Amino acid sequence: MQTSVVTGGAGFIGSHLCEYLLGKGERVIAVDNLGSGSENNLKGALKNDRFKFIRHDMREPLKIGESVDFVYNLASRASPVDFDQYPVEIMMTNSIGTYNAIDLALEHNARFLMASTSESYGDPEVSPQPETYWGRVNPVGPRSCYDESKRFSEALTMNFIWHHGLDGRIIRIFNTYGPRMRLDDGRVVPNFVTQALEGKPLTVYGDGSQTRSFCYVSDLVRGIYLMMQSPVKGEVVNLGNPNEMTVLDFARTIIQKTGSSSPIDYRPLPVNDPLQRRPDITKAKQLLGWEPEVSLDEGLKNTITWFSRNMSEIKEKLS
Ligand code: UDP
Repeated sequence: MQTSVVTGGAGFIGSHLCEYLLGKGERVIAVDNLGSGSENNLKGALKNDRFKFIRHDMREPLKIGESVDFVYNLASRASPVDFDQYPVEIMMTNSIGTYNAIDLALEHNARFLMASTSESYGDPEVSPQPETYWGRVNPVGPRSCYDESKRFSEALTMNFIWHHGLDGRIIRIFNTYGPRMRLDDGRVVPNFVTQALEGKPLTVYGDGSQTRSFCYVSDLVRGIYLMMQSPVKGEVVNLGNPNEMTVLDFARTIIQKTGSSSPIDYRPLPVNDPLQRRPDITKAKQLLGWEPEVSLDEGLKNTITWFSRNMSEIKEKLS
């Protein structure tokens, strides 16, 4: 039986990945400091005797006293709202934390996957963004704590592959949504869905003409698994849904799907907010035979159902 370690395993994407790996028959060790992740996300996984949770901050070295075949490095806060509150923590997690995760992989002779981000491209001048694009990132802007530390994590991974025998690979994750996003995470999906369900105005930043492409979490997790299973040492691959839309259209879609009568409230555009983002997934198709399968309709239906159930649970607890 093969064993995977998932750092950030109690987070939104990490917890879905843990369940997927358990479904594949693996042993899974989730590692998380519960900074932005939650044990609630692991309720299902914890019932499985092939699953183990270790509360640990990846900024500290990690020893695991059993054999490890795969290390998925997903540990990092990822919401732009957190960039203001936890900038240095984010930078240390993506630098020292990635170093510690690589060290763990090398010690066990395990395959390593670095979960990087579309933020590596910054505010791109080309669209869609292929992996060969170097990006346009402001190194001293408000998003730099995340963008630059993820770029550092990519460079660290590649140099360990080239010079220290690491069997590593890098994915760049584009906007992903689905159940278990934190309700107060501040990103566009939790904000719009909770606002629409509560009948509050949807806060569209800027004029809403900036674009994003939304990938449902089950599609992403399947791509992550394929990337780890494939002989793609040293490759960098975009994982995301190329179905691009403006933020304003996305707000209107959420209003329509929730049956809400919320108005739109225009707020200032955050500094350095990327104006366009859309993955070129040609490489993922060629190398992994992967492309998204879940439509926005279906993905949003699941997501809205999950949010509405969890919002009422939270309200009940508070009342
Ligand atoms: N956004 C918005 N209203 C919100 C939250 C986000 O209009 O309440 C916009 C944000 O400015 C960005 C896009 O939605 O253009 C996606 O933002 P998010 O924070 O989800 O992630 P990002 O793609 O910027 O990392």
